[in-house]
Amino acid sequence: MTGQEFFRDTQETIRAAVAKLGHSEGVYKILRNPRRTLEVHIAVTMPDGSVETFLGYRSQHAAVFGPYKGGVRFHPNVTKEEVEALAMLMTLKNAVLGLPYGGAKGGVICDPNALPPTAVEQIARGYVRGLRDMIGPDTDIPAPDVNTNSRVMGWMLDEYLKCTNAIDFSVFTGKSLNLGGIEGRTGATGLGIAYVTREACKVRGVDLKGARVAVQGFGNVGRGAAQALTALGARIVGVTDITGGVYKEDGLDVAALTEYARDRGGVAGFPGAEPLTNEQLFALPVDVLIPAALEGQITGKVAETIQAPIVVEGANGPTTPEGAQVLADRGIMQVPDILANGGGVTVSYFEWVQGQQGGLRWSERTVHRRLDRYMTSAFAAVLAYSERYNVSMREAAYLFAVDRLATGMIERGWVP
Ligand code: GLU
Repeated sequence: MTGQEFFRDTQETIRAAVAKLGHSEGVYKILRNPRRTLEVHIAVTMPDGSVETFLGYRSQHAAVFGPYKGGVRFHPNVTKEEVEALAMLMTLKNAVLGLPYGGAKGGVICDPNALPPTAVEQIARGYVRGLRDMIGPDTDIPAPDVNTNSRVMGWMLDEYLKCTNAIDFSVFTGKSLNLGGIEGRTGATGLGIAYVTREACKVRGVDLKGARVAVQGFGNVGRGAAQALTALGARIVGVTDITGGVYKEDGLDVAALTEYARDRGGVAGFPGAEPLTNEQLFALPVDVLIPAALEGQITGKVAETIQAPIVVEGANGPTTPEGAQVLADRGIMQVPDILANGGGVTVSYFEWVQGQQGGLRWSERTVHRRLDRYMTSAFAAVLAYSERYNVSMREAAYLFAVDRLATGMIERGWVP
């Protein structure tokens, strides 16, 4: 799927939601494009002394409820349209979770795994120098996304503070604990996924204890979900990542797999498990399937092969519109990205609040308890919309988000 297709699909989903809810066309006109997108060329000195340039973007979509918020990804397939579509999804996600934020997203076209760390640091710093006037603790608050982490946030924060003479660390979230991060941010997206999976299982009458789960992707999100679900008693039977995949009928040892993947750069070849392709993973007879890699994975064709009664989207945009239609027609419950993976930005919000309150520390227990409350109540609200409009959870999440945004726009006088 190209970035342009992803952008158009996202626009179309919003258009359909506005129409179904009976809101004025102005709501769609405001939401169909980002407010602005900045393009930045970043010059980097390579270890051999040569200079390379990298292209990056930051897109701010709609700020109905507060400052823009969203992650920054480093990936070779980043495009302007992809970043813009992801910024739209952030607006919707923040609305579903009820966070006081608009949506934003950033990306740099690069492969950090194939670059020396000094180059990655220069990319992070150069990106922030290009963006310095656009971001800030009460304007736009970036965070980690694909291939970025607290280390990258540390560099970005340092560069921002240096070039703006600022002292407010809450301009970035997903920071290390030492730099004003929050307990549990790294595992937050995965934990949020586990909480909504628990809720989905209740609705579908599946016992989470002993439930069989397959996960595509073993990065921060997929790994975190696998760990959190294991802690809730589920069995992770299949995992795939860029290196390959592994299957074990009676459940993989997720802690050992985590260590193995860290040492070997991926899950392929994990001892005691059978090899597994992505195609096989999607078709496994499991209770829950979690796509937690990149967008566009569950196409109409793939959706036909899925046996799981519940699909929980860890990635952003992993299901194409055709895929979603097939899943809906087949009665498979879809817990969509803008609900399922909202745990990351929710704990980012807690981190931001913590920073704004002078750095008063929340305990991990408090973070988990509050995250559970946010995820569970967002799930219940989306479920209520799905019953009220007799639509899938996916469509209901969009309806709920767009309704909330439209109401905010009406209250602020943007639309009649
Ligand atoms: N990148 C994450 C997402 O897609 C988190 C964003 C944030 O914490 O601002 O939701």
